[in-house]
Amino acid sequence: MNDFLEQAKELFSYTQSLRRDFHMHPELGFREVRTGGIVVKELEALGIEVTKGVGKTGVVGLLEGTKPGPTLLLRFDMDALPIVEETNAEYASQNNGVMHACGHDGHTAIGLTVAKILNSHRDQLAGTIKFCFQPSEEGTNGEEIGGAEMMMRDGLLEGPKVDMALALHLWNEQPLGWLGIAGGPTMAGAELFSIKITGKGGHGAVPNATIDPIVASAHIVTALQTIVSRNVSPLETAVVSVTILHSGTAFNVIPQEATLGGTIRTFDSRVRQKVLERFEQIVRGTAEALGCQAEITIKRITPALVNDMSISEKVQETSRHILPDADLHTAGYLTMGAEDAAFLLEKVNGCFFFVGSANRERHLDYGHHHPKFDFDEEALIHGSALMAAAALDMLNQK
Ligand SMILES: [Zn+2]
Ligand SMILES: [Zn+2]
Repeated sequence: MNDFLEQAKELFSYTQSLRRDFHMHPELGFREVRTGGIVVKELEALGIEVTKGVGKTGVVGLLEGTKPGPTLLLRFDMDALPIVEETNAEYASQNNGVMHACGHDGHTAIGLTVAKILNSHRDQLAGTIKFCFQPSEEGTNGEEIGGAEMMMRDGLLEGPKVDMALALHLWNEQPLGWLGIAGGPTMAGAELFSIKITGKGGHGAVPNATIDPIVASAHIVTALQTIVSRNVSPLETAVVSVTILHSGTAFNVIPQEATLGGTIRTFDSRVRQKVLERFEQIVRGTAEALGCQAEITIKRITPALVNDMSISEKVQETSRHILPDADLHTAGYLTMGAEDAAFLLEKVNGCFFFVGSANRERHLDYGHHHPKFDFDEEALIHGSALMAAAALDMLNQK
């Protein structure tokens, strides 16, 4: 049964050339026209039925097995980031200011490789594989919702109805050969917040005639640190980060307003509720105590990503057969990063797993979203082999 690894190795030059081509021609969220076009062409070449324009630039491919069975969604994201690349790689971005700095070029290449592999095993598939090439994972890029939600709004999970889902991420936080496949909460839910503090401006030398929004903001930033340290249990996790603080334009003027922004991350809905409550109380209470008014806007970006226990166990089992030498981590691998696949896994049981891709000796270990981010392309083999084998196993075990 382990011809999957062999097949992924044989297809490596295909996977790598696709990956490098996507890397050279990165496209931002909802603008993956060239990338999506290549996806369509490659899927159609296999005889896979393709639907374009699902969630603007998203592409869906249907591969029906020769036997009846459930429908399994395999999701791969396609978008790049607004970053000026500094890798000096021979395949560096030719689209200045846009870069594949998260590995989604690799995900798209893996997706097309998986399509090739599974297509060659069609006679063993009991059910349908729905390939989902998703736009705009990294944000909404000016739209009201991101890529996963947009595809779902356009019917991704219907016709045929999706019964389960798999997705992966190349993971530069861990070395090549590492695999993270865990049931339960895996990636944090994220909200973004913005706060406007309004005081009363005036002369910097006459503070008593003003209400200083800068002093109030400084107290708010400090007081917000107590949510994680004093309101969340030491055995649970949350993040409250203030990442934006703007105010003032002149050395001798106390400004009228200050604006703050940042993000909140949680895994557990009770913890999330508690953090949001305390956030509101602290911001309002502190602002009022210092004579200012606070306007708070909190927007949910993604829910927490929670893997189904039994599906995750199946993927672990497959990985033991397909990649027996891998350093497999099965217990609660948590990351505070957020992923919009969480919207899919809120509706459909599934597993989102991580494929270690860093190589320190070759300096391929910069973090995701870094201008020097690049990964060891051997991880493409691991991702393709495991995704294809797990898909086949899931359709045949159900
Ligand atoms: Zn990213
Ligand atoms: Zn990503």
